Amino acid sequence: MSDERVFVSHAPGDVDVVESLFRSVRNLPFDVHVAAEEVEPGRSREHLKGRLNECDVTVVVVTKAAASNQWINQEIGYAVARGVPIVPVFERQEDLGGYLRGIDGVALDRESMDATVFNLLSRLRSELAPLGSLSTPKWYVRFPCNAGSCGEPVTLTIDQRQKELWRLHDHGRTVHADCDECGARYHFDPATLGFLQRETPNQ
Ligand SMILES: [Zn+2]
Repeated sequence: MSDERVFVSHAPGDVDVVESLFRSVRNLPFDVHVAAEEVEPGRSREHLKGRLNECDVTVVVVTKAAASNQWINQEIGYAVARGVPIVPVFERQEDLGGYLRGIDGVALDRESMDATVFNLLSRLRSELAPLGSLSTPKWYVRFPCNAGSCGEPVTLTIDQRQKELWRLHDHGRTVHADCDECGARYHFDPATLGFLQRETPNQ
């Protein structure tokens, strides 16, 4: 199990967009810390610096609301000071000011979340699972089989490159993983790694 950590800095009002961005990222073998889930309402985000210290990459969701948020600006500054790679997910290029200027980001297109999630996964993959470490593949999704009472762990290993995954998505294809115990097959969207459907073998 990998212990890569992803910290997500975002404005309080952007919980829904954060959820749609990270739904499938959470299934990868990373610890995903979302700022809002770590803070009780009304409490300061000061203690999140500990989380930022431990993380391998910080994703900043830069919406209009976030651009002027003091906590987000502090968290970005802190990540920069610690040398933590930052991946901005932005709606408008002009919101990428200060430390974020010149950093390669991911365009947030609410009309095309598949492409947005795909681009985010591509960036995270290049930060966290660089090519070359093929002996320890860490780009996989592991989950318990939910066919009947099976419960066996199933692993979807992703060995295709991102370009190939997008091509499969474009052609309406899926990537799949089989349960060794009961033979159930799980299909995923190659671009977003979102779960699509389960096939169970005929009894
Ligand atoms: Zn099973």
